[in-house]
Amino acid sequence: MNTPVAQIGVAVLGSTGSVGESTLDVVARHPQRFRLVAIAANTNAAKLARQILTLRPAYAALADPAALPQLRELLGGAASGTRLLAGPGALEELACLGEVQCVMAAIVGAAGLASTLAAASAGKRLLLANKESLVMAGPLLMAAVQRSGATLLPIDSEHNAIFQCLPAGSVPGLPPAGLKRVLLTASGGPFRDLPRAALETVTPEAACAHPNWVMGRKISVDSATLMNKGLELIEARVLFGLSAQQIEILVHPQSIVHSLVEYVDGSMLAQLSAPDMRTPIAHALAWPERIDSGVEFLDLLKVGRLDFAAPDLEKFRCLALAQAAGRAGGLHPVVLNAANEVAVQAFLERRLNFPGIAAVIEAVMERVSGGAPGGLAEVLAADAEGRRHARERIFGTKRTGSVRDAHA
Ligand code: NDP
Repeated sequence: MNTPVAQIGVAVLGSTGSVGESTLDVVARHPQRFRLVAIAANTNAAKLARQILTLRPAYAALADPAALPQLRELLGGAASGTRLLAGPGALEELACLGEVQCVMAAIVGAAGLASTLAAASAGKRLLLANKESLVMAGPLLMAAVQRSGATLLPIDSEHNAIFQCLPAGSVPGLPPAGLKRVLLTASGGPFRDLPRAALETVTPEAACAHPNWVMGRKISVDSATLMNKGLELIEARVLFGLSAQQIEILVHPQSIVHSLVEYVDGSMLAQLSAPDMRTPIAHALAWPERIDSGVEFLDLLKVGRLDFAAPDLEKFRCLALAQAAGRAGGLHPVVLNAANEVAVQAFLERRLNFPGIAAVIEAVMERVSGGAPGGLAEVLAADAEGRRHARERIFGTKRTGSVRDAHA
């Protein structure tokens, strides 16, 4: 079969995750337009094997080399057309493939930084779900995009909404003339209406049961603590070149208005859609065109009402900590993100209670100097230091760790 000239080669990094699977769904709806070239995960050999057998990509990778033998065994000889890679560097290699024009960066956490930077440096159309890489290394990532001529399209529903409300031709990292501020919406998570004292005993299962979105476990906990909104605030500052004062956070329990942009003439533009990540994914895949995403159309009569409220910063300390780290700048967001990743993992493993997440982050932020911004080496060092202190605080021992074992 002849390949249509316009077909776009896509790599999905984090294909076994929630955003990854939604991306595969949208890509599969448009076989004339997209060709799935590469998929990648960390350890989930069983799901990756199923994806390889169904979708037949040219490449597939596991970041964890220990999972490769299982993948080979599961595939038997049934996927000879797919080249398998594993270990450090494998995901970066996929991000830079010549056959790939579009990279979905959907790995969770700091583990996604290297491959996201690689895609940016290689000049790809970069669909950025991995917000942690922008929080950690925003200026480095934006500089790489600028140097290479890459196209950076935000996948986070809020940032994608803002992007959709900006004038065509807006320059990444620079607010367009006439923009007054943006309003980032937050569902408020599953504990929005829970009394503060009740947060002491909430379980990981309850934290991961988001009322509106189906997401991976880490971002689900981040949504429950409102750290997710804090990370998004830092992300929005980098992506759109905004000051802290230009971003307001609004709790909007229905998750229908994904964010708003206010202009100096008093106009407020918003993007509304059902809470389904396939809308921002389809938008970014096809931008500036529009394609079917498979998402249910919004029935505003059924929705009925849209509510907005201010967030409770006393109850959700993580948001206040992220705001402070964003204001301080430098390496503070790196330390915040590192401590959060360790604390969330400990909460998911029931080694820390829910309010303990904010307590650990606060203690780490007090101990580790955020310093001035630096290059990648400084970012990775700050990440490792933040993780070390968080582990010491939680486990009381000097366990070591870095980006590489963030999700081991
Ligand atoms: P999931 O937990 O569902 O999936 C994470 C993916 O990353 C999996 O494919 C996983 O592989 C892979 N992965 C995990 N650790 C590593 C590692 N060390 N090296 C390589 N790959 C790794 O996460 P989500 O899809 O929910 O989120 C992905 C990113 O998108 C996050 O940054 C999140 O904040 C962001 N995002 C998510 C949204 C959502 O609706 N889910 C919305 C907006 C942003 P394996 O299966 O093998 O573990």
